[in-house]
Amino acid sequence: MNVADSQRVESALERLGYNFTLRPGDADVIILNTCVVRQSAEDKAVGRLSSLKPLKDRRPNLVINLMGCMVGVKGSQQLQKRFPYVDVFSPPSDPGPLIAHLTQDESRDREQVETDQRHAIMDGDLILPAHQRDRLISAFVPVVLGCSHACTFCIIPYRRGVERSRAVEEIVAEVRSLVAQGVKEVTLLGQIVDRYGKDIPDGPDLAALLNIVHEVDGLERIRFLTSHPNWMTDELLDAVAELPKIMAHIEVPVQAGDDQVLADMRRGYTVSEYTHLVEKIRDRLNGGFPGVSIATDIIVGFPGEKQNQFQRTYDLLAELKMDVAHLARYSPRSGTVADRRMVEDVTEEEKWERFRSLEELQEQVSGEINQRYLGKQVEVLFEEEVRGRWKGRTTTNKLVFVESERPLQGQILPVRITWTGPWSMQGRLAQKESTQVSIEMLATTS
Ligand code: SF4
Repeated sequence: MNVADSQRVESALERLGYNFTLRPGDADVIILNTCVVRQSAEDKAVGRLSSLKPLKDRRPNLVINLMGCMVGVKGSQQLQKRFPYVDVFSPPSDPGPLIAHLTQDESRDREQVETDQRHAIMDGDLILPAHQRDRLISAFVPVVLGCSHACTFCIIPYRRGVERSRAVEEIVAEVRSLVAQGVKEVTLLGQIVDRYGKDIPDGPDLAALLNIVHEVDGLERIRFLTSHPNWMTDELLDAVAELPKIMAHIEVPVQAGDDQVLADMRRGYTVSEYTHLVEKIRDRLNGGFPGVSIATDIIVGFPGEKQNQFQRTYDLLAELKMDVAHLARYSPRSGTVADRRMVEDVTEEEKWERFRSLEELQEQVSGEINQRYLGKQVEVLFEEEVRGRWKGRTTTNKLVFVESERPLQGQILPVRITWTGPWSMQGRLAQKESTQVSIEMLATTS
C-alpha cells in the first residue's frame, strides 16, 4: 500500500514540475512515507527522520514531509511537537497536505492553485513518475483503503481509518491509464481486499470488480491481496478459476493455529474453518500444473500464547503446506486492544525460538513445493533485469530468473525450470509450441 501511495505522491509532484532524486542532499522536498505496523518499522522511520534534521538546519527552505501510518488519520499535534523541523504531516494515501503546502505561494492566483492541486491529486488518471513510465511492468492499485475489522494486535485501523472502497470507474480508469503507460499486471490492494464494495450500497463485490477489470485491453495479469478468510466467497474463487487474466495466487493470513489465540486476536474464524477454506481453494483452483499457490501470515508470541498453542500453529503449517508464510514476532502497538488489555508474557527469546522453528519448517515446505516445478514449463511475465539476469514471476507468483541476451521486459514467455530453491527458481527460455507449428506450416505452403 505504501509503494502505491509513494507512487501517487511522486506523480503528483511531477505534475507540479518537480523531478525525482534518490539523493536527499539534492532535494528541495523530502518525503518520508512511514509504516508502523511493527515497532522496528517505527524505530527505523524515527531514525531516518532524525538524520534529516542537520540537513534542514543547513537548508531552512528544504521541505520535509512526514507521511503515512506514523501520522495516521487523527491529527498530528504530538508529532509536530516532537519533530518541529517537519513542514508537512500527511495521512496515509493522501498527497493533499503536501500539494497544498507547495502551492500556497501567495503570488499565484487562487484559481491556478486549485487547478494545480486538483490535477496533482486527481484519482483515476494516474500518470506514472517519469522514471517508471514504459518501464514499470507490475503496478499496485489500491481498491479498498483503511480497515474496520480491528484485530486486537493491529494498529492499521487506527492509522489508516475506516474501510472505504474506491469507485469502480475510478479503479478502471486508473488501470487503463497504467496499461497505456506500459503496465502489464496490476495487483488490486486492500487490507481486506475481499471486502471490496461492502461499504457501497448495491455496489459490486470483488468478484464483479475482477470481471470488470478483466475487460481492460492490453492488461495481461491481475492479482489481488490481502484476503480475509471470512470474506472469500465462491463467486470470488469462480472468478479466479474462470477468468484467464486472474492469477491463481491467494494471500489469506491465518495468523495462528490455535482457536483460543485466534479468538484473543479477534480474527473471527476457527482453525477448522480456515483449514476447510484452504481445501476449498485447492479443490476449486488446482486443476492442472502449476495450479494455485497460497500464502499466509503468522504472528508468533501473541500475549498469552503457550508453548502447546504455538505447537498447534506449527502443526497446522506442517499440515497445510502453504507456498509462502510471512512470519512475524508479535510487537505491541500502542493503543491497540492487545496492548491495553493483555499481558505480554512471551519473552523475546521465546518469540525468536518460535519464529525460527516456523522459518525452518517453511523453508523445507517451500523447497519441496518448488521442486515440483523442476523440468516443467511455466509462463513467466518478465519485469526487469537484475544483475545480468531477467527476473519474472509465474502465474503462481514464484520468482524466476533467466539469462537472456535479448531484453525480456514486459513479455510473457514459456520457461523451462532448471533449478529450484525455497525462495526462487532458475530456468531457460523454452520454445513456444504454437510458434513452431506455424513455422512448419508456413514452410510447407511455400
Ligand atoms: S484485518 Fe486485522 S490485521 Fe488486517 S488490517 Fe484489518 S485489523 Fe489489521
